Amino acid sequence: NNPEIASPARTQAILNRFHLSAKKSLGQNFLTDLNVLTKIVDAAHLTDTDNVIEIGPGIGGLTEFLARSSKRVLAFEIDQNLLPVLDETLSPYDNVEVINQDILQANLPAIIEEKFNNERPIKVVANLPYYITTPIILDLLKGNAEFDNITVMMQKEVAQRLEAKPGSKDYGSLSVIIQYLNDVKLAFEVSRKSFIPAPNVDSAIVTLERKETIENEVFDEKAFASFVRGCFAHRRKTLWNNLQGLFGKDAETKEKVQAVLDEFDIQPSIRPEKLTVDQYVDLTNKFHSIKL
Ligand code: SAM
Repeated sequence: NNPEIASPARTQAILNRFHLSAKKSLGQNFLTDLNVLTKIVDAAHLTDTDNVIEIGPGIGGLTEFLARSSKRVLAFEIDQNLLPVLDETLSPYDNVEVINQDILQANLPAIIEEKFNNERPIKVVANLPYYITTPIILDLLKGNAEFDNITVMMQKEVAQRLEAKPGSKDYGSLSVIIQYLNDVKLAFEVSRKSFIPAPNVDSAIVTLERKETIENEVFDEKAFASFVRGCFAHRRKTLWNNLQGLFGKDAETKEKVQAVLDEFDIQPSIRPEKLTVDQYVDLTNKFHSIKL
């Protein structure tokens, strides 16, 4: 009867026995706090009918908790050196499959069809490699594989940006783009001391759940994202300045922009971080309809 893979003593013993040193370049920080693992599983609301996708199983610490609380787990690990480790640590669990692939290269809809027969629910749970947190999240959200929920650990500062509300210093283009389609919650924070090796930053668990209905829809999600990014290009400047950066400064353009802002009762002097997601949707659609 082994202790949990993620217990500090067993994690250290596994690393020693396989002569592994955590690769910084791959964001390898192994979670060794069993209490945090239990809370992650709770935050994901896992049940024994769930199909789970994990990104970066590492040596299997979180994977073990997922395997015990779900129907099956499909785990994407980029580091080939971890395969023999996972093979051994996860051998008691016949409901886990490890795929040696970069998650950013994976064709998730095809893999879900092949491995899960498109059976739902499908949830994503992961302690993300922090160097690619944002691309992974944007990738998961834009794909046509729709997940019932996503529960992921990331650097605390990124978590704060994802859930930030208008007017807060953390509110930016990422907040707007993600909150347009998803309900985002920072579930709880995790100290850097909960990992081997300890990272230089604290962490937080974020849950993302796709909204059931979108009342105010954009005509095109890509255009929305690039418009919002343009509005935040210089976040200390006014919205008016940023819109000039996007559309140009000639008199005719200025007049059109002014008319749109008037229509939505938005002050040109407002800062981009004060606008709500809804207002960004309105502006995206309106500027598109008048061909700016
Ligand atoms: N799940 C383990 C845990 O909680 O202790 C390890 C988490 S560690 C923060 C991130 C893991 O993601 C590492 O195992 C790393 O090798 C893996 N990884 C890094 N980049 C990846 C990528 N592009 N695709 C899949 N896995 C990746």
